[in-house]
Amino acid sequence: MAVTQGTRWQNWSGSVKGQPRQVVMPGSINELEQRVGVFAREGRHVRVVGSGHSFTPLAQSDDVLLSLDNLQGIQSIDAEHGTVTVLGGTKLKLLGDTLLAHGLAQENLGDIDVQSIAGAISTGTHGTGISFGSLATQIEGITLVTATGELLECSPEQHPDIFKAAQVSLGALGIIASVKLRVVPAKVLHYQGLRKKLSDCLDHLEQYKQENSHFEFFWFPYTEWVQAKFINPTSEPPGKNTLWGTLNKIVLENWVYGSLCAMSRAIPGLAKSVCKISGNSIANVDEINYSHRLFSTPRMVRFQEMEYNIPAEHTRAVITEIQQCIEQRQFAVNFPLECRFVHGDDIWLSPAYQRESAYIAVHMYRGMPYQSYFSHVEEIFKRYQGRPHWGKLHTRTARELAPLYPRWHDFRCIRAALDPDGMFLNDYLRALFDANTPVTGVTGEEEARTTN
Ligand SMILES: Cc1cc2nc3c(=O)[nH]c(=O)nc-3n(C[C@H](O)[C@H](O)[C@H](O)COP(=O)(O)OP(=O)(O)OC[C@H]3O[C@@H](n4cnc5c(N)ncnc54)[C@H](O)[C@@H]3O)c2cc1C
Repeated sequence: MAVTQGTRWQNWSGSVKGQPRQVVMPGSINELEQRVGVFAREGRHVRVVGSGHSFTPLAQSDDVLLSLDNLQGIQSIDAEHGTVTVLGGTKLKLLGDTLLAHGLAQENLGDIDVQSIAGAISTGTHGTGISFGSLATQIEGITLVTATGELLECSPEQHPDIFKAAQVSLGALGIIASVKLRVVPAKVLHYQGLRKKLSDCLDHLEQYKQENSHFEFFWFPYTEWVQAKFINPTSEPPGKNTLWGTLNKIVLENWVYGSLCAMSRAIPGLAKSVCKISGNSIANVDEINYSHRLFSTPRMVRFQEMEYNIPAEHTRAVITEIQQCIEQRQFAVNFPLECRFVHGDDIWLSPAYQRESAYIAVHMYRGMPYQSYFSHVEEIFKRYQGRPHWGKLHTRTARELAPLYPRWHDFRCIRAALDPDGMFLNDYLRALFDANTPVTGVTGEEEARTTN
């Protein structure tokens, strides 16, 4: 077990910084259980971190920061049932490569592959594709280390309520030691990236969503242009244009774009021009590769991000309002807006809970002011029953969030039962799940009304 004292820590975007008393990296599940048991007896506070890619202070700890970086890999494969059991710290890239070596894949992924599997599911991380749920919907069982240092297995058959709470749980119920993941046979996908008009995308939303396995688009503010991405299965072999695809992703989307953004940070008046240059120079891309390699994109340009889930039927209205808001207020925006689609699910704290969803994200180059821009856009999301992505910036409080989640109260009950002393809470999560407020006596819906 590796233990370091007083190390400085910060997340990927630099929006969260801190100095935990101890960073602890267990080398086995047994060590993890024992160490959590000791922390419980000592009354310590523990936060678990994956790859630190959340923008919100979810993983912040001023006491123990637990990393599962030494708990990575596939533990077992059940070919008959199409599942694999994976250690919680496993990074998605390692998982994708290992699955491929066994002729397997995850059915869908987001646009980077550096997150840990436990971190990704815990915030409701998603990709795009209206027939696919978020990554947490791929989970069929979870092994938690609870606040007593004991292992607790949950699944649709075993402790089903805890399972529905644990699938997206922000690290607030315990440490996910391993997950049982539903997998599919390895697949080769064809990615076509096309420059299109925003009006074309909005006019054909339903068609593009339904006719493509994975459809998303990036709109460049102050222009009429989007980069539309269409990804579909193919029987062709992998390899077509992967070099051009990689060059496009690394050189154009990172180096060239990063330099333009840095210029507009120095001279904010240039932000609009950066969007125009980027929108006008969108390159058409045609690439064939294994699914996990195709989905992932290197993100070397650092930014801040807010992303909201809205009911899919409001996509056009929300994007049109955001466009008007940016143009009226002339925000210095140099990053595109991203729009993706996800199937609804039944996970209690999933932003896609019981609704076909669109995810709309706005970004700002790191070091540029984003607060006013994000806050105006957040007001638009709020008017359309928006639920924030748990890992991305937002300003919503428990009082505002509870009415948006019919099972909010049930989640709080399970959290309080599993961790009555709040061992796994930091200030941010305490404010969300409020350990000291009584959690009995009202149903989720009643509580939603009373907190409104
Ligand atoms: C460049 C970039 C691109 C992104 N792309 C996407 C995208 O395409 N789609 C999308 O939906 N999101 C995306 N995100 C957001 C990102 O996927 C989420 O924030 C995700 O949670 C990060 O995973 P992580 O391993 O870094 O977890 P962390 O940020 O380290 O932790 C996230 C949460 O998971 C908890 N956690 C971590 N490990 C465990 C464990 N073992 N047991 C219990 N809880 C645990 C933490 O306590 C915390 O609450 C992106 C973020 C960045 C910076």
